[in-house]
Amino acid sequence: MKKHNFSAGPSILPQEVLKQASDAVLNFNNSGLSLLEISHRSKDFVDVMEEARELALQLLGLEGKGYKALFLQGGASMQFVMAAYNLLENKAGYLNTGTWSDKAIKEAKLFGDVVEVASSKDKNFNYIPKDYAIPSGLDYLHITTNNTIFGTQLKNIPALDIPLVADMSSDIFSRELDFTKFDLIYAGAQKNMGPAGTTLVVVREDILGKVTRKIPAMLDYTQHISKGSMYNTPPVFAVYTSLLTLRWLKENGGIKGAEENNDKKATLIYSEIDLNPLFTGFAALEDRSTMNATFNLTEDNLKETFDTMLKEAGISGVNGHRSVGGYRASMYNALSLKSVGTLVDVMSELERKA
Ligand SMILES: *Cc1c(COP(=O)(O)O)cnc(C)c1O
Repeated sequence: MKKHNFSAGPSILPQEVLKQASDAVLNFNNSGLSLLEISHRSKDFVDVMEEARELALQLLGLEGKGYKALFLQGGASMQFVMAAYNLLENKAGYLNTGTWSDKAIKEAKLFGDVVEVASSKDKNFNYIPKDYAIPSGLDYLHITTNNTIFGTQLKNIPALDIPLVADMSSDIFSRELDFTKFDLIYAGAQKNMGPAGTTLVVVREDILGKVTRKIPAMLDYTQHISKGSMYNTPPVFAVYTSLLTLRWLKENGGIKGAEENNDKKATLIYSEIDLNPLFTGFAALEDRSTMNATFNLTEDNLKETFDTMLKEAGISGVNGHRSVGGYRASMYNALSLKSVGTLVDVMSELERKA
């Protein structure tokens, strides 16, 4: 029986996408060949790459607005490096809202001065800093729109007159935003888009080519753009499966449709966390993520009972990250409201039992 999959990443994908992807592994487009055994330069695969790049821009509302989409390798962690390599000439600002921002900052420091414009480290990243000043002379500001580990999410995206760079790994395509506010967006596929192995990068072309350092080809956005995201052999399976998810998203109401579902799921779990005396939320109320809900039991001795009940209900992947503890329910686009309902039922059943 298929489990209710709350894994933080790699994470749930639509069942029909998994089916289509597995079909393509055996017989791609009725070609009598596997997706995995054809040239990436063949028309069939070039079409996949082109459609995926276009659809990503289309879903974000960025078509014809000076942006290019790329499917690169190395994960979001490689983008911590590439963003700074391509954009940091003197000084960049970073908003430190969690483990991933922290890592992005460490990498950027290899390339120039980094100003931590604000940080929520003082409270183990359980909130998003709000009243901070942006110093002058920054090459860009870097933010993490959703903090996967801590369960916080930026609700207000700053409007700036310098480039805005965002790690959207865990909430890309999950909610409507004015994406034109961003100049560089990146997201590892394995949270909300596809399998591990590719990272979506969306970049406004006119911010590139401004740094004086030499950039190795594989780390140079301009090179990847000029080669149509095919500078070298792309991760064909990850790109194709991401395309299938993007098609699925489009057929299901696009980002708007996803956001409506995600809001319902988040409302359901957070009201249970707030009403049930056995649970307490980790993140500050106003910063709660619609993607990752972090919570704890108020009585540690109920852990074993709760864990057993979760298992019996077919719920998988709700253990919290080691740096936060407790529980984390990740509710990416492909997770159904019914799965969240099942989790909430177990939580209220625990209250009845205890
Ligand atoms: C998972 C995650 C990362 C790391 O992604 P990799 O693809 O493993 O490098 C970075 N940032 C955020 C917000 C994440 O959720």
